[in-house]
Parts: sequence; C-alpha cells; structure tokens
Amino acid sequence: MPDTRTVTMCDDGEVPATATSPEPPAPPTGGWIATSSAGRAVLDAAAADPDGTLLAMDLDGTLAPIVEDPDDAEVLPQARAALELLNNRVATLAVITGRPVRRARQMLDLDRPGLDRIVILGQYGVESYDAATGRMHIPEAPPVVEQARRRLEHAVVVAASSDPGTVGTMVEVKEGAVALHTRRAADRELAWSVLAPTARRLGRELGLFIEEGREVVELTAWHTTKADALTGLVERTRPSTVLMCGDDLGDLPALDVVAGLIEKGGHGARVVSWSAEQPTVAGRADVLCDAPPGVARFLEELARRIGAEHLGIGE
Ligand SMILES: [Mg+2]
Repeated sequence: MPDTRTVTMCDDGEVPATATSPEPPAPPTGGWIATSSAGRAVLDAAAADPDGTLLAMDLDGTLAPIVEDPDDAEVLPQARAALELLNNRVATLAVITGRPVRRARQMLDLDRPGLDRIVILGQYGVESYDAATGRMHIPEAPPVVEQARRRLEHAVVVAASSDPGTVGTMVEVKEGAVALHTRRAADRELAWSVLAPTARRLGRELGLFIEEGREVVELTAWHTTKADALTGLVERTRPSTVLMCGDDLGDLPALDVVAGLIEKGGHGARVVSWSAEQPTVAGRADVLCDAPPGVARFLEELARRIGAEHLGIGE
C-alpha cells in the first residue's frame, strides 16, 4: 500500500483541491477533510439513501470538547443543532459512549425537544436508551465495582501523600464501572505513571475489564466494546451507509467495524475527531475533523446534503 494519499479539502464550500501527504493530513481549522475514497463518497451515499443511513457518534472529544473535569463536559451547541437537523433525516441516529446513559442524556440535553429519535448506547452498549420509545435499560452493577472504587480512591490518597504531583487525580464513579482520570493532576505524566499501573493491577485482581482512553483507565464489570454496540445496531437496522465518529482508542474497534463493512462493498466512513494526542486514531480516518467544532461542521454538511436531496435541490 502506498504511504501517500490523495486528500480533498471540504471546508466552507471551497473548491475541492487535491494534495498528497506522507502523513494523515490535518483538517482545516474548525473544519473537516475527506482522506479516502470512502470518505469522499459518503455524503453522496447518505444523501441517496438517508432511510438506510446509520450515524453513530462518540460523545467526549467528538461532540463534546475534552475538558479537565469530565463532569464539566458539554456537547457543543453547534453539534447539538446539527444533530437536531439529522434527527429526522437519517434512519438511525445513535450515540455510543463510555458514559452512563443518564449522564449522556444530560450532556445531550434531552429534556429539550429536537432529539426525539436518538438512541444512546451507554457504557459501551451495556446501557441503552431509545428516545422514540422512552425505553431505558440499565443493568445493576455487581458489588466488586464498589470495592474497586474504594481501593482506587484509597490509592489516589496514598499517592498524593508520597507524590504530590499526583494531586488532582480523580476517580469517577459510574454504574457498573469506575474510572481513574489523571488529566487534572498537578503533574499529569507523573500521575499517569504512578496510578495507571495501580488501576490496571486492581482491575486484574478484581476480575474487572480494563478500558483505556486519553489519561483515563476504566475498570468495568461488563466486557463490551463500541464494536459490539455498533455491530448490534447494524444487525438491527441493516443500513446501506454507516458513519461512525470517534476520537479515542476506545473508538477504534467501532471504526474497524465500519472499515469491514466498506471492504465488503458497503458505504460508510470512519469520521475521526482529530486530536494531537491520538495520532493512531487519525491514521484510520476516512473523514478527519478538527476536534468537536470540525465534527459539528461535518454533521451540518451531512444534514444539508440529505435535506437538499430530499427537496430536490441537489448539489
Ligand atoms: Mg471520545
């Protein structure tokens, strides 16, 4: 396979241009760029068959900017607005996240109208919520998760007394999972090097599954991945076009599902919210977006293309 690729600029209605780059190209500021033939074809495919289109999205780092305290994370208003446009334009609009469904609902502000067809698969698909029916499924967490929380919090306190640079490390409690976040630590690298191995050891000892993302180790009672969640949706809805948007290592299995569908002749795209911290993920993109604002722009364009097709305006 050549290590160069042709790219198409797709921001602000610019005239498409092509270029070659030995590295995955950076998307334009606040915009997006198609980096493969699948990426260049996906808007046409979705516009041609919106009733066969499945759009699945990660939440943090994709629709909501990464912030120091995960409790402060919010979906970008422009991303929320684009999702509202897509709510009635694609067959399936889904959010697949490591967050619990309840928190994802808050972040998406589902008390406000506009997203009455969204499906949320929380905790990598362990939990689910279907806005169309109001049905919510949240299984009860086993006691070992509470044990993990206590011991992880204790480890954080002990580390803070011997390594002050780890102060600020947080333990997030979820239903069925507990997560260590080192992003807010005084010395993030130190906190990660001291506490991430502790969390992994604890996970192994307690028989919990270990999921890792950007400066986060999550210990979870259920072994599911975003690939399982996305595959379940694909099997239920049988789409002709599948778009999965993500930014982090935890999204890679789901992005690989899309790659498999494309290889089999289906339409789709791996839409990646670009982050300097995760170049591995950017290397898998068919569409590369400049962080959540770029994702929002891509979603706006997807909505516009589907809407234009429906109204017979065309391109
Ligand atoms: Mg993410």
